Amino acid sequence: MHCPFCQHEDTRVIDSRLAEDGATVRRRRECPKCGERFNTFETAELKLPSIVKSGERREPFDEHKLRVSFERALQKRPVPTDSVDTAVREIVNDLRRCGEREVPSRQIGELVMRELKKLDQVAYVRFASVYRKFEDVQAFREEIEKLERDLPELEALQLSLLGESVARRKKS
Ligand SMILES: [Zn+2]
Repeated sequence: MHCPFCQHEDTRVIDSRLAEDGATVRRRRECPKCGERFNTFETAELKLPSIVKSGERREPFDEHKLRVSFERALQKRPVPTDSVDTAVREIVNDLRRCGEREVPSRQIGELVMRELKKLDQVAYVRFASVYRKFEDVQAFREEIEKLERDLPELEALQLSLLGESVARRKKS
């Protein structure tokens, strides 16, 4: 790279070492023309995309919010914290990998559903019922039936959840 002091076209790397966190490489460079030395830092570009909410509002991705979504859906479910950590990490990695600068919040919701489906079916249905904002009991029932086809193990719990969801809706 160019020398930031005299703009000479080339500089020499005289030392290269990995930072303690293992995520940054520090290089010591020297300009052969003016003799000045300076450091450069190399890190992987892993910026997370902004989230586009409804109404075109944008906000930075928030891992804490993501975790709260999981915790809410998994309330009183027998799912270890480690599994939640893994699920959150999966989603964060997916977002890094996608390389997009902006991602619709809907896509995050779909990723959460994908992970919940692996973790716990009750939590999955809970999340899906709130997330998809079913217009009425009928729409919810249809979704449950669709789920049943996808997840044959689901069986009896949908009725209790259906009751729970309707009760909640009436209150709010
Ligand atoms: Zn120079």
